[in-house]
Amino acid sequence: MIRTIQNINRDFEESCDVCVIGSGAGGAVVAKELAEAGLSVIVLEEGGYYPTSSFSHDPQRMLPRLYRHAGGAIIVGNAPIMYAEGRCVGGSTVINAGICYRTPEAVLDDWRREHGLTELAYHKLEPYFEQVEKNLHVMPVPDAIMGQDSLKFKQGAENLGYRYVRVQRNIHACQGTNLCILGCPTGAKQSTLISYLPEALKNGTQLIANCHADKIVVKNGRAAGVEASIVDPASHKIRHRAFIRAQAVFACSGALHTPTLLFRSGLAKWRSWIGRNLYLHPNLKCVGIFDEEVKSWQGSIQGFQIDEFADDGIVFGSTFLPPGIFALSLPYFGNDSFKLMEHYHHMSLWGALVEDTHPGRIWRLPNGTSVTTYWINALDRQRFLRAIASLAKIFFAAGARKVLLPIKNFTEINCEEEIEQIPKLHVQASDFSVFTMHLMGTCRLGADPRTSVIDMNHQFHGIENLFIADASVFPTPIRVNPMVTIMALATRAAQKFVENRQRYLLRA
Ligand SMILES: Cc1cc2nc3c(=O)[nH]c(=O)nc-3n(C[C@H](O)[C@H](O)[C@H](O)COP(=O)(O)OP(=O)(O)OC[C@H]3O[C@@H](n4cnc5c(N)ncnc54)[C@H](O)[C@@H]3O)c2cc1C
Repeated sequence: MIRTIQNINRDFEESCDVCVIGSGAGGAVVAKELAEAGLSVIVLEEGGYYPTSSFSHDPQRMLPRLYRHAGGAIIVGNAPIMYAEGRCVGGSTVINAGICYRTPEAVLDDWRREHGLTELAYHKLEPYFEQVEKNLHVMPVPDAIMGQDSLKFKQGAENLGYRYVRVQRNIHACQGTNLCILGCPTGAKQSTLISYLPEALKNGTQLIANCHADKIVVKNGRAAGVEASIVDPASHKIRHRAFIRAQAVFACSGALHTPTLLFRSGLAKWRSWIGRNLYLHPNLKCVGIFDEEVKSWQGSIQGFQIDEFADDGIVFGSTFLPPGIFALSLPYFGNDSFKLMEHYHHMSLWGALVEDTHPGRIWRLPNGTSVTTYWINALDRQRFLRAIASLAKIFFAAGARKVLLPIKNFTEINCEEEIEQIPKLHVQASDFSVFTMHLMGTCRLGADPRTSVIDMNHQFHGIENLFIADASVFPTPIRVNPMVTIMALATRAAQKFVENRQRYLLRA
């Protein structure tokens, strides 16, 4: 059953075995696994419920519905960094590109060696990857929906002899409308709205949308429930209050909001690592302009990734955006931007994802909210320049005649020879246009309670029956798109909970 503000007309209390906060990659998986095992589950989701039939190609309509702050959110530091995250039933999985990668083995080895996470060895996680991939219908992007931009991207890689892979995505009968970031209008992308949540609901889960979790209630060192508010999405006013009495709580609100919720719940004094260790997997985009029409808006949002420079922490992929949002990626404004947009059919947008080396932090504010800070260090600035130079090279190798760069005062190059200037530029952090949608790592997993927030079973060190399962649990950045890792870890956490239910649930 899904309840929304439309059918809630009073304050209320409910009871369940487990209250899950957030319905995205982590929360939906936990809800499905627990409900299938026969537990009573209530999911609280701050965003609204928008079924596939309500999705359209109109950003003005979809951004405020599906995105936090309508997609215009900023992290502060030595450069303003725009970030995007979902705020709707299904969370960021509704608006993501659906690119699926398992956690690299080298990352898991590092977690074992540096963080004592022996239980997360690749071979031990493999069964969870398999379950997630099956439930999400993960498959290689088929030729039939490969866009011209992806083919040009591949051509550029081949001409340079760079290693590339065909991307795997969670799609079923994808028609290549390339509207993934506005919610898939055909229901082909297997977001949790389409995959995990219906399964959870079928097994009795109650999902309450427009419901903001205000505070996790802890009694005698044990999670006892959640205080929440039903918030009107139009006015942002609180309409009703709710209390969910639960024997256990899973916080799955994402890398920015789980720490904020823990702060609001008075738990900062328990673990000093809450909010630290924030990684962004920064994304830098270049636009290539070709003489011929590319029509990059047709076909799968991404077809290939170049992983030639993965050891340097850099991977490249093509992507594309609807015109209104695309214009924001241009390094020009006003009339200049308007004129360039006349070449929309001739443009491709390719990006670099860079593994960052210096963590940011989420800070508690007295009013129950938080602020996020992040400093781009010199090492990462050099990597950004290398990434942009390589991306420009790939564009020219694919036949582009001009490449627009995300660097202030060095906004375009018109031939390959100009590329060599890029790594030599003296740049400050604020000279880059940086974007992120892969936020991770603010409540990290670890064997040592002094340097982590949750233990190997995802239970908060020192508080019983409080668990975390979302992007915040990563001890380090993971070099690849994070959704499958989040879901595999959430599957494992939920299944461990079920195995040990005798310990956690009084009635079990
Ligand atoms: C545009 C975009 C493209 C992306 N593309 C890819 C991709 O191709 N492949 C990939 O692997 N990853 C991709 N990602 C990243 C991936 O989607 C996220 O890393 C993942 O969904 C995070 O999972 P999560 O459970 O931590 O948070 P989310 O999926 O964001 O879910 C958290 C949910 O919690 C809710 N919430 C927050 N606070 C509260 C509260 N107090 N009370 C109630 N509810 C609350 C939020 O509204 C949200 O719905 C993309 C992300 C974006 C934004």
